[in-house]
Amino acid sequence: MLRSNPCVRCGACCAHFRVSFYWAEADDTPGGTVPLALTEDITDLRRCMKGTNERHPRCAALQGRVGERVSCAIYEQRPTPCREFGITWSRGVLHFSAAELDRCNQARAAWGLPPLLENAAGDPDASPPAQTPGARGIAS
Ligand code: SF4
Ligand code: SF4
Repeated sequence: MLRSNPCVRCGACCAHFRVSFYWAEADDTPGGTVPLALTEDITDLRRCMKGTNERHPRCAALQGRVGERVSCAIYEQRPTPCREFGITWSRGVLHFSAAELDRCNQARAAWGLPPLLENAAGDPDASPPAQTPGARGIAS
């Protein structure tokens, strides 16, 4: 049973995938939010969070120690793939899509962390989302 938001004690997905997004999400464009200094160019149209396009990724905005205590330094300004990652904690309930749970557990395994849910169906604090997020992942 999960009693609190597991992500604040994890952060594995922020240190496993390349976090890429449309270039205009950076704050050097009108309406962009992601601090430009924390991004890297990938192509003319794509940027990624600095540090995530490495052999051993770690987002430059990730604070703390993976698997212990973490936070996102730009939580309100984070890019779309972070906002749309399908694992959310709301009012004491974990919401997830099966596809994103797989990706979550992939990242956790890479950091030697146990699966988030051994048996999601049997966990009373876990529930699938009312609407399954798109297959868009945190990496692209
Ligand atoms: S890997 Fe899963 S549990 Fe860990 S921070 Fe990401 S979504 Fe949360
Ligand atoms: S911007 Fe924040 S939520 Fe997104 S990968 Fe970086 S630390 Fe994680």
